[in-house]
Amino acid sequence: MVQILTDHGCFGKYLHRRQREESSMCHECGAPVDTARHTLEECPTWELQWATLQAKLGVDLSLPSIVNIMLDSEEAWKAMATFCDEIMSQKEAAERAHENDPDAHPLRRRRAGGRARRYARLLPPP
Ligand SMILES: [Zn+2]
Repeated sequence: MVQILTDHGCFGKYLHRRQREESSMCHECGAPVDTARHTLEECPTWELQWATLQAKLGVDLSLPSIVNIMLDSEEAWKAMATFCDEIMSQKEAAERAHENDPDAHPLRRRRAGGRARRYARLLPPP
């Protein structure tokens, strides 16, 4: 849910800005820019989940109004959390698959993290 509310996460625009993607494109539908708003309100890939959430909460949702709706009702909070978990776990799984693909663009491949390199330096020599 934090990824969706902050627009910092598995979204093409964010990953492109962080130089993890060669473009801002949505890998699900091919739209030129993938953002949290695109994922929630526009991407046809998640239409069913979005419609289910709207039917459950009985209101016309938009990203700007969703925080107020979540704060008014524990049921709405849980429904939004479930919705976000479902979508973001699928987007993250797709991202990991792209990172592990040996034919992927070099920007997309998994990088050894700084934390892992620092930890390796602390280990005694073999
Ligand atoms: Zn899309």
